[in-house]
Amino acid sequence: MDTKIVIIDENNINQNIINQAGTVIKQGGLVAFPTETVYGLGANALDKIAVEKIFKAKGRPQDNPLIVHVADLNIESLVKEIPFIAKKIMKKYWPGPITLIFDKSDLIPSTTSAGLDTVGIRMPSNIVARKLIEAAGTPIAAPSANISGRPSPTDVESCIEDLSGKIEYILGGDKSTVGLESTIVDCTCTPLCILRPGAITIEMLREIDEHIYIDKNIMSNPKNDFKPKAPGMKYRHYAPKSPVKIICGNLEKTVAKINEIVQTNMGNKKIGIIATDETKNKYPYGTVISLGSRNKPNDVARNLFEVLRSFDDVDVDLILSEAFEEKGIGVAIMNRLKKSAGFDIIKV
Ligand code: AMP
Ligand code: MG
Repeated sequence: MDTKIVIIDENNINQNIINQAGTVIKQGGLVAFPTETVYGLGANALDKIAVEKIFKAKGRPQDNPLIVHVADLNIESLVKEIPFIAKKIMKKYWPGPITLIFDKSDLIPSTTSAGLDTVGIRMPSNIVARKLIEAAGTPIAAPSANISGRPSPTDVESCIEDLSGKIEYILGGDKSTVGLESTIVDCTCTPLCILRPGAITIEMLREIDEHIYIDKNIMSNPKNDFKPKAPGMKYRHYAPKSPVKIICGNLEKTVAKINEIVQTNMGNKKIGIIATDETKNKYPYGTVISLGSRNKPNDVARNLFEVLRSFDDVDVDLILSEAFEEKGIGVAIMNRLKKSAGFDIIKV
């Protein structure tokens, strides 16, 4: 299939381009588009046949439901009810990087919800995303615009790499400002439960529901009887082509351990190192890429997937990564990093 690729200026939106992409969605086609979290691969969420094409293009497992993206707060027709506490979250954090799970209405086809009685809904803050949803005149189901298993795309180049030739339209914009997928909160249970950590952190959500907790299954090793409430969290994900290993603990000991592994494998394995601005000059050997400063965890989050992908362009056999403190957005960073490493962690 020929994929039309059009880049839009997010600061000076060309409505003709938006309308063109909106028409593709209306006609049952697929459009990759920017959002503040990661790029999404969109189809009409209410059209079962269009949604089936998303699963096919991505190679996505059939049991992994899609998030439905909306352009405003009027979601009554898509859900059975909106609990009071969900309304509070919507008021405070929509539009933004947080998905809420509700009991779904019959309007949502079971292909979109992967057979579940619930549906995840999000209102993105990215202006191109919202204008596209408006132009399509329908909610848009959109998982991340990558081939399943690969790191999510945070720029248009990554979408082109994964999806060119497989979908009708790639609408390119700026690099995603958040860089990690949305926080997912299950609003069908009391207290609320975080199914996937993201930029809206547990600390922020505790201001609304002090009892909110994180599904304990998602930060641990899947081998240990792993049953996450978000089906997608059980799959190996975010993985570059070479294996990733995380070195976790005191920073000085981490640097020493990484250097030790590099030296032991010298002449044998080519090693990539995911470092930070504070440590990048402490690794004399190996291909070193920094995620940014440890004092700016939002930068680390924004750069993570791009750095994981960039190791596919350099020839390495193993990638060693430093770890981050699991607080604030660090919980989401470590969740993605651990999954990219298949939970291969060395504690120092
Ligand atoms: P992606 O859009 O690629 O970021 O993946 C969407 C994530 O949301 C996956 O982990 C899904 O399992 C999860 N998800 C979507 N809808 C639901 C739902 N109704 N209940 C639980 N998890 C969901
Ligand atoms: Mg995804």
